[in-house]
Amino acid sequence: MRKPLRASIVFLVILFTALSILSFISAKNDRPLFYAKLLWSLAISCLGFCIYRSGTISRYRSILFILIAFFFFLEFKLFRFLSFTSAASPYCHIAQAPTLLNFIYSQFLALAGGGWRVWGALTLGFLWLGIMFTIGQGICSWVCFYGGIDEACSKIARKPLVRLKIPRPWRDFPIAFLIFLLIVSFLQGLPVFCVWFCPFKMTAVLFWPVLIGFVIILPILTKKRTFCSLICPFGALVSICGKVSPYRVIINKEKCIRCGKCLDACPVFAIENKGPDEYKISNFCNMCGKCIDVCPADAINILYRQIFIFLALLVTGVISGSFVPRLLLQLIGLK
Ligand code: SF4
Ligand code: SF4
Repeated sequence: MRKPLRASIVFLVILFTALSILSFISAKNDRPLFYAKLLWSLAISCLGFCIYRSGTISRYRSILFILIAFFFFLEFKLFRFLSFTSAASPYCHIAQAPTLLNFIYSQFLALAGGGWRVWGALTLGFLWLGIMFTIGQGICSWVCFYGGIDEACSKIARKPLVRLKIPRPWRDFPIAFLIFLLIVSFLQGLPVFCVWFCPFKMTAVLFWPVLIGFVIILPILTKKRTFCSLICPFGALVSICGKVSPYRVIINKEKCIRCGKCLDACPVFAIENKGPDEYKISNFCNMCGKCIDVCPADAINILYRQIFIFLALLVTGVISGSFVPRLLLQLIGLK
């Protein structure tokens, strides 16, 4: 539902102010960087304004999500490949999930060996845990700079060329994969996912066809985010940890007319048809908002919707603000 203009402007101003303060703190005394961060914060706030004012979530979220993935790809893959200088990579959250046991063990060793003094460098992983507990599963459709690549490919065709239905056991595969990776990574003392399976590093030639298939080809054919929903171990971890987040998508059974549009629209197979009378949203929902936008009966919503959207944009602004403004400066030759 559309919101009044005045309330939407207030939303924009609050979001922009919060992001500007964080930009000021993180830019330190680097003026060009601060201005670039301010510009990026304004762009995010304007998209926030559009989401708030229009009452539709997915379209504007998707623009931001794909844009961040594009910048990420440019900065950390293409520029590095072409040997341009670039900023330090953001901490890889996908890598964090399958090495969580190693991470906890190294924290334990650090504490046992040197106390709090040697802990600093290792605490970054907790940032992601903090985000998980803040916006829960929303991380996978708002913040993840890898998920945007999957989403961009899923937007290429106007309609699905292949209708893909996933039986429930296969939808649970990422959890089994996560457990396997946790155990093997711990036993080997290695980030096994990064070494063998990461589709964005493509280290193991053996898996290239599978990974290209799940990140590029299947999303184009099916309009579903197949890597995110059928493989990603981080998505599996978030679906478990995100349960503590107060934000979730709910269906109002009284209003629902059982048209099934949400089921078709959901890009991550998170809506289950439990029988003629019941559509159920699973823990794999990552709050992209697509089902909310397509529902003709206005029967779906996010609990504490406006707070969630504000927090999701804030977290997205902070994470993307760590590399997008620097890239913008690089592109105009100021870095
Ligand atoms: S259930 Fe709705 S909000 Fe959740 S992932 Fe699917 S389409 Fe997005
Ligand atoms: S799109 Fe809305 S009305 Fe249709 S099945 Fe889903 S919740 Fe019910």
